[in-house]
Amino acid sequence: MLGLAKQTAEKFEAKFGYAPTGVWSAPGRVNIIGEHTDYNEGFVLPIAINRATYAAIALREDNVARVASTFTDEVIELNIDQLGEATGWAAYPLGVAHILRASKGFDLFIDSDVPVGAGLSSSAAIECAVALGLDELLGLGNDRRALASIGQRAENEVVGAPTGIMDQSASLLGKVDHAVFLDCQSLAVENVELGFAAAGLELVVIDTRVAHRLNDGGYATRRAACEAASAAFKVPSLRHLSVKDLDDGRELVDGVTYRRAHHVVTENDRVLEFVAALKLGDFSRCGALMVQSHASMRDDFEISIDELDTAVETSMRHGALGARMTGGGFGGAAIALCPIEKISDLTNSVYAEFELLGYAKPEIFTVNAADGASRLI
Ligand code: ADP
Ligand code: MG
Repeated sequence: MLGLAKQTAEKFEAKFGYAPTGVWSAPGRVNIIGEHTDYNEGFVLPIAINRATYAAIALREDNVARVASTFTDEVIELNIDQLGEATGWAAYPLGVAHILRASKGFDLFIDSDVPVGAGLSSSAAIECAVALGLDELLGLGNDRRALASIGQRAENEVVGAPTGIMDQSASLLGKVDHAVFLDCQSLAVENVELGFAAAGLELVVIDTRVAHRLNDGGYATRRAACEAASAAFKVPSLRHLSVKDLDDGRELVDGVTYRRAHHVVTENDRVLEFVAALKLGDFSRCGALMVQSHASMRDDFEISIDELDTAVETSMRHGALGARMTGGGFGGAAIALCPIEKISDLTNSVYAEFELLGYAKPEIFTVNAADGASRLI
């Protein structure tokens, strides 16, 4: 980690001709369970992962903001009054500066080992690294929860992706070997111990390499369906409905809207059950809940794709206790909770199945629950 932070500082210096004041890093995240529940004021259970984005930053004496990334050779330069107009990849870091109302110019260099568009939230990682760093340099004093909502607002208002608060919360509030159990209504957070390693288990990520696009429509229409269901049931959000309420009022919504709401309402229950099972060390129950969660996203919410279904089914045939797609859907990654001694069989079987079906070769790796964002240099 420190190695990558030093490299980021060096790349900053090579680009801008002087050393940065500091380097901040923020991890990507994997959501263990609780998908599309965040913007319904429900429950989520992500972890911060041991892959992060690094932001090397220095304030300037003028009102110019410059940002560069290992992504591309271009340096994006804007006046600080124009930060809200940033587009493309620069909308993530400069959008954060805009929401923070940066009152001084700055130079910023971004490097990352979070795979992009894989559902591991490279977007929250970049937002949170920049938010933490700029907040400190500008002396703004926002706490981590405030910074999480600043990252979310940058993504909603400047990037234009209507995502919830989960990713930024995981990136800022994660803890080694713990999940971030977040109530998206009260914003109460509990770090729940995972104990996977002690139980001989690991989380395997199967990145299908099918890039999802959250500002492409699928995510927004799901969100709209959830809002339509809440309006029909006259509740502020789906958080307030039980499965029984939903069934009793089934005629209030059309079949598709019912299924969308059914996913969210049952998924909230699964998160609570998962947390209870974790506390008992009942990992087979955890696995079963992951599989139910996947089926709900495939059948009720309809956000899975063939590659994700194949990753989940193959993992389950080769030793996983549970597996599910993770992230917003329409691509990205699946995760499998797997006994360590079965990981190589699972990995080889998924490669083979993908090849047989003519899918692009997936990227398969394990992740650990890591600490949230911090200053490294
Ligand atoms: P995910 O969060 O699942 O990785 P998103 O589509 O939400 O996918 O966010 C990915 C986008 O975030 C990229 O297309 C890019 O615009 C921006 N981004 C992420 N990491 C970097 C980086 N290291 N440098 C520049 N832009 C980045
Ligand atoms: Mg994202």
